[in-house]
Amino acid sequence: MKTPSVTVKQAFKDCQDSQKYTLIDIRNATERQDGTPKNSIAIAADNLLHYAKDTFTKNHTYYIICQKGVSSLAAVNLLIANGMTNAINVDKGFEHWQECQLPVAQATVCAHDLRYSRHHQLQGFGKEAQDKLTKAHVLLIGAGGLSSSCALYLAAAGVGTLSIIDDDVVQLSNLQRQIIHTTASIDALKVDSAKSRMQAINPEITIHAIAQKLTETNAQQLIAQADVIIDGTDNLKTRYLVNDICVKLKKPLIYAAVYQYEAQISVFDLRMESSPCLRCLFPYTKGFEPENCSTQGVLGVVPGLAGILQASEAIKLITHVGQTLQTTLLICNLVDNSFRTIQYKKDSNCTLH
Ligand SMILES: [Zn+2]
Repeated sequence: MKTPSVTVKQAFKDCQDSQKYTLIDIRNATERQDGTPKNSIAIAADNLLHYAKDTFTKNHTYYIICQKGVSSLAAVNLLIANGMTNAINVDKGFEHWQECQLPVAQATVCAHDLRYSRHHQLQGFGKEAQDKLTKAHVLLIGAGGLSSSCALYLAAAGVGTLSIIDDDVVQLSNLQRQIIHTTASIDALKVDSAKSRMQAINPEITIHAIAQKLTETNAQQLIAQADVIIDGTDNLKTRYLVNDICVKLKKPLIYAAVYQYEAQISVFDLRMESSPCLRCLFPYTKGFEPENCSTQGVLGVVPGLAGILQASEAIKLITHVGQTLQTTLLICNLVDNSFRTIQYKKDSNCTLH
């Protein structure tokens, strides 16, 4: 049977649509020094089958290109023999691509593309949204239960710069829910413990570990430098401090609080004039959680869930993909698995804005 093939011109044209087509350059690193076909990803020929089994999806076409069109022909035959009939050979390879004067990009480190390949493939997300994450700076206030899952997922997602502030050390009683820390990190600074875990997941990103208590003095500058602020604290005084500065500096703030079996999450996108703030939601010095939550107990997965939802909201705020919890309070109760939402508005009596 004839191996399905396309011309370099057709491959270039089709691969403008990354939702339907992917161009895979299987040449070796030396060959790629002269550049790679624009919009291609680099996968070593030896890894192609493994990569394909792991990554290829139906209703998507994969064009395979090599230097002259010989290795790619063999590669496509192998993929088809393994059931991947959506693999197609690019005729005459990169040499012909250059002869036809099609666009060439500088060779990129393929590890970066591999790391984020699931985001690149994701409908409505793609490389464009991933690049926004790479350029973003998120500030996590607190390195406890909420920040544990939030920070791990934001690091994994490739948020380019993450700052995390906390002056506390890891204690044995934290480990039931603060999954970013380990038994070996007891007595270590939480921000150091968190940083090492995040960096181990993703060495590509920059992490600032700030071993300080958030105060009126340092909060202003830290918040000013970030694009999105995650409230991962457990006391209302700090929550209001962070809120008030976010209102002043027009920074999006992602709120979450946990109590026993229940979590509450909301977004105050204070870049918008019409956005409510924490004081609009909780006008007086009474929040959802009691003043001393360390005596009330909390199911370990509750802050984990809330932190993941905060990470999800941060990704959406940065990439403009999807709808955030702006003007919406999400209340999750894990006793009866109820997920409820309450709509609220900017309070005209709010003294802040
Ligand atoms: Zn307000």
